[in-house]
Amino acid sequence: MHTSYRSMTCADAGPDHAGQPANLAGWVDRRRDLGQLIFIDLRDRYGITQVVVDAAESPEAHAIASSVRSEYVLRVSGAIERRREGTENARMPTGQVELRANRIEVLAEARTPPFLVNEPEADIDEALRLKYRYLDLRREPLQQRILARDHLVKAIRDEHHAGGFVEIETPLLIKSTPEGARDFIVPSRLQPGNVYALPQSPQQLKQLLMVSGFDRYFQIARCLRDEDLRGDRQPEFTQLDLEMSFVSEDDVMAWVEQMAIAVTRAVVPERTILADPFPRFTYREAIDRFGSDKPDVRYGMELHDLAEAAAAAGAAGFGPFNEALKTGGRVVGLAVPGLAGMSRAQLDELAEQARRAGARGLIWLALDTEAGVRGSIVKAVGEEASRRLAAEAGGGPGDLVLIVAGADIAAQEALGVLRVRLAERISACDRSLLSYVWIHHFPMYQWDAEHARWDATHNPFSAVHPDDEGLLTTHSGDPLVAAADDPAGRARALQYDIALNGWELGGGSVRFHTRELLSRSFALQGHSAEQQEAKFSGLLEAFEYGAPPHGGIALGVDRWVALLTDQTNIREVMAFPKTSSGSDLMLDAPSPVEPGQLEELGLALKPHRPPAG
Ligand code: ASP
Repeated sequence: MHTSYRSMTCADAGPDHAGQPANLAGWVDRRRDLGQLIFIDLRDRYGITQVVVDAAESPEAHAIASSVRSEYVLRVSGAIERRREGTENARMPTGQVELRANRIEVLAEARTPPFLVNEPEADIDEALRLKYRYLDLRREPLQQRILARDHLVKAIRDEHHAGGFVEIETPLLIKSTPEGARDFIVPSRLQPGNVYALPQSPQQLKQLLMVSGFDRYFQIARCLRDEDLRGDRQPEFTQLDLEMSFVSEDDVMAWVEQMAIAVTRAVVPERTILADPFPRFTYREAIDRFGSDKPDVRYGMELHDLAEAAAAAGAAGFGPFNEALKTGGRVVGLAVPGLAGMSRAQLDELAEQARRAGARGLIWLALDTEAGVRGSIVKAVGEEASRRLAAEAGGGPGDLVLIVAGADIAAQEALGVLRVRLAERISACDRSLLSYVWIHHFPMYQWDAEHARWDATHNPFSAVHPDDEGLLTTHSGDPLVAAADDPAGRARALQYDIALNGWELGGGSVRFHTRELLSRSFALQGHSAEQQEAKFSGLLEAFEYGAPPHGGIALGVDRWVALLTDQTNIREVMAFPKTSSGSDLMLDAPSPVEPGQLEELGLALKPHRPPAG
C-alpha cells in the first residue's frame, strides 16, 4: 500500500503508530473549521483518518486547509498522534488517533459534487447517480458492493482452479448462438453485407472445447442479449459459464452445489444457507407446490390442490370450479396466516394482481377466529363446503384463503405470484437466509402454434431424459411436420435450473453429443436440414469427430452478487450499468454514428423516428 505519495492508507493508523511520521493521500470527506484548528476527514477506499491542522504549529498548512473543500484530493504529511482523552471516536477504526499535519499539498481541486458523496443513506435520483457514476462509485454503499463482487469472482476462480477447471476466453465476435433473445449484431467492414453476432452466451464454443478434450472449462463470461430490460436484466451481463465432460446431471449439480456453498461462505460468512444439500424439485412439483419454477422456500404458504375437496364438499358444480375441472384445469388454493381481516379494497387489489398474473379471477375466504367464514363463494357453495375448502388449503382461524381455478400451470403460477407478494406483506421470511434450490425435469419443448413447431423451453442443445428418448417424434413421422399433441410435447429435458431466494440464478443441461440426436432435436425445433447447415454446421460437424458426453451450466454473476448483498436491482452491483431503456447516461451511449463510418460498412440507417406519444 506504500507508494511515493503515501506511507500508509487512510485505514491503517492506530495507537501503535503514535509519534511516527506519516504521509496520507485521499479525498476530503468532511472539513470542520474551528478557527485556529481545522479538522479534515481524509478518505480513501480503505477508510478515513482525521487530520488536524493547528495554525500555531503550521501556518502554511493551515492556510491551505482553510481553502480546501469537499472532494479535493490532498496529500498530507505529519505525525500520527493519539487523540486527547475524551475525543476518541469508537465508531471509526482509526478513531483513537489523528494525523497532525505540518504540510498539505492539493493534488486536485474538485467542483461541488451534484450529490453528497459522504452520506451513505442519501436518497439520490437514479438518473443523476448514473450520469455521475464515477462519483456514485466513490460512495461507500456502492464501493462495498463492488468489493463484494470482486470477492465473489475471486472465490469462483479459486474454487474452479482447485477443482481442475481451465479458464478459457471465447470470442465476442461470433455467429449467432440462440438463447431465446434477439442478437446484437456487428457489421463486418472486411466482408461487406455480413455480420457477426455478439454472444448471447458462449454455449457452442464451450461445447466445442469439450470436443477438444479440455474436460473442465469455466469462464467469467460477458453475454449480450437485446431484450427488454427489467430489474434483473441488462443488455450485457456476466455469467459464470462452465462445461464438464463425462458427466451426468447429478455430477454437474454436485459440482455446482459444493462450489456455490464454498463461494457463499467466502463472500458472506455471516449469512445462513437454509438447506445443504440444496432441495431438488421437479418442475412439476415446483409448480404444484409453489406456483413457480424458481420457488422461494424461505417460507411455507404452499399451494394445495383443491379438486378433491371441491368434489367432496359438493362444490365441484360451482361455475369456475366446474369449468376448470372439466377441461383438465386446476383448482388451487393457499392460506395466508393472519390476514382474515383484509379490507374489500385490498382484496380487490389482490384480485387485480391475480388477473395481471394470468388468472381469470380470484376467490377468497376469510376465516374468522370464531369459526365463521366469509367470502366470495360462501353464498354459492354454502358455509360447510367453504370451510372444507379453506381447511384443505391449509387455512386456520384468522387466515385468509385464496383460490384460483383455471388452466393447469397458469392457475398455479397466478397463485404463485400472490404467494410471493403476500409473504412480503406479512414479513413471512427471514431475509438473512439464503435458500438455494434445484429445479429439474423440465419439459423439453413448448408448442409454438404460430410456427407449428416445438421450441426448446430452455437451451436448444439440451439432451432428452434417457427414459423419454422415444418421445422425440411427431405423429406425422417427420419432425418438421409437427402437431400440438405430438409425443415430443411430453419429453423431459436433462435441464436443471438453480434458484436462490425466488430468483433464477442459473440454468444448464446435459447436452446431446451425437450429431444424429442433436439434429433430430433441431428438426423438431423447426430447423430444416439446410437451416441446420447454415446455422450450426460447426458444432454438428465437430460431433462427427468424437464428442465426449458433456454438460454444463451458467450462473448469473450480477444476480448472485445482488442476492448476496440484498439488492433487488442488478444495476446496484454493476460498476457501469445501463438505464432500463438501454442508455449509458455517463458516456452518452447509444449515440449517432460518425459520418463516414456507415459508408465504410456499406450501411445506411433509416432516419430516427422519435418514439410515439
Ligand atoms: N448457455 C446457457 C445460458 O446462457 C447455460 C448453459 O446451458 O450452460 O443460459
